[in-house]
Amino acid sequence: MVGIDRARLLEHLRFFSTETPNRAAGSADEARAADYAAENLRAAGWRVAFEPFETLTSRVRETVVSVSGDRDLPAVGIGYATPRGSGRFLDLVDAGDGSLAAYNGVDAAGKAVLVAAGGPSVPDKSFIAHRKGAAAVLLASPPSPEPSLALRAQKGVWGPPLPEDLLDLPDVTAVSLTHQGGQRLRELLRLRGRVQVRLGHAAETLWRPLRQLVARFGPDEAEFVLLHGHLDAWSPGVTDNATGIAALLETGRALAQGPVPPRGLRLALWTGHEVEEASGSAAFVEAHWAELRRCVAHLNVDSPGCEGGERVILYRSLELRTLASSVLAAEGVPLARELPLAKESDNSFALAGVPGLGVVPAGESVGTSPGQRVAPLWWMHTDRDTIERVRPDLLVRDTALALKLARVLARRPTLHDFAPVQDLLHDTLAQLGDPSLLAAWPKAAKALAGVRSGEGARHVSRLLLATLGTRGGRLHQDRYGDPHYAYEYPGIAHLLGADAPEHTLLPARLRERNRLDDLIHALQSLEASPDGP
Ligand SMILES: [Zn+2]
Repeated sequence: MVGIDRARLLEHLRFFSTETPNRAAGSADEARAADYAAENLRAAGWRVAFEPFETLTSRVRETVVSVSGDRDLPAVGIGYATPRGSGRFLDLVDAGDGSLAAYNGVDAAGKAVLVAAGGPSVPDKSFIAHRKGAAAVLLASPPSPEPSLALRAQKGVWGPPLPEDLLDLPDVTAVSLTHQGGQRLRELLRLRGRVQVRLGHAAETLWRPLRQLVARFGPDEAEFVLLHGHLDAWSPGVTDNATGIAALLETGRALAQGPVPPRGLRLALWTGHEVEEASGSAAFVEAHWAELRRCVAHLNVDSPGCEGGERVILYRSLELRTLASSVLAAEGVPLARELPLAKESDNSFALAGVPGLGVVPAGESVGTSPGQRVAPLWWMHTDRDTIERVRPDLLVRDTALALKLARVLARRPTLHDFAPVQDLLHDTLAQLGDPSLLAAWPKAAKALAGVRSGEGARHVSRLLLATLGTRGGRLHQDRYGDPHYAYEYPGIAHLLGADAPEHTLLPARLRERNRLDDLIHALQSLEASPDGP
């Protein structure tokens, strides 16, 4: 079997990071990067196509925040910032971490709010500020060894917005400041009581046609494996995700050498990922809905080969846990933590019922518990994501791991192991103590135990993900950063221990009980014909 060619891998990285450093969705650099990838994949024997779609894009601007009676602060716009609070001086108030609770006793109406990193996701911070009547949001970047500006977007809507989603876009202007800038404003609030700030125009938002590369290798009509990563990036975006695209190209070349695997392969390089929030992968799901029934698993390659990546975090669907952990162990890649797939990166596939894997550098995020988001490496999604952060040896190792995982997914007859799913569901039902579900469980458990591979396993994965794998249900992409995804199945997060505001917990648990009811009934009918319909 052909292995990873270090020189080729590093040449791909050099090309993306030095010749196409500004790969925003729909930009000239992104188009050149996509053409380069297409050329390399075609040369390796892949069938390459560009698939068009349209989404609401946003380009952020470098700007400053003027502070009355003090110096200007460097800032960068937050994607999808609206003009609402820009161009005039606004009173500033401190809204803590920007969570709902942090607004207790704070009158934000018509004002600019200063929010710290941590707590809710950036889209949620903006959404809450908008609901509280604020006109502008100033997001302080997290502390970092060098001053850096967090690059973020406030479109919480996942994928291309639908008509009903347009109401969920926060109507506030928003910028990010350095951590030091945020500290300065807090100090001024403490010293003076009243502080006024003026924000410039922060973002250019418009619908744009985009195109993304989707390549195929091997049999077209068979089961297939989807390998993917995002080509568009925040600038300079070297470890997020020039390293990932380089790794995918080299993985693709090595996979195409030697005997053709029994399963087909797809390799997608998304656009509209960063600012546009997984627009490319979400558009792909919609366009390939029927075909995705034949997809056994997806493997997301995001941010390999960087500083802090000696140990990794494995994101996985539960039925792929056994397989993924054994490959990591065999490859000698030290695992810091194993987590359910979060509603981040390009996790667009739960609603299509496709289980997946992703391996990312662990950094110092070890020790966070369910319900907390994993802290990213400090330079990720900042203007400091440069070539200095790359560790070539780790990039070679991570690419070899991606290749190994892809080979196993494309060749091994049995991929799924539903035993951990069975254990989790059994424990959940025992805790819930619902007599009718407990009575129905043994037949459902038998159905789960009876499938290992082929159409039956794919069907069970689809049932699981369709009933428990999302919050909003089948056909709905949940919001970016949805905290329910910290639990094994977001659809039953509160049965698995997620907290909720008083009065909402009981109805949430009842809804979740009904999801289990749906799942168990679907599994029971499978037991009669284990290969599924
Ligand atoms: Zn990324």
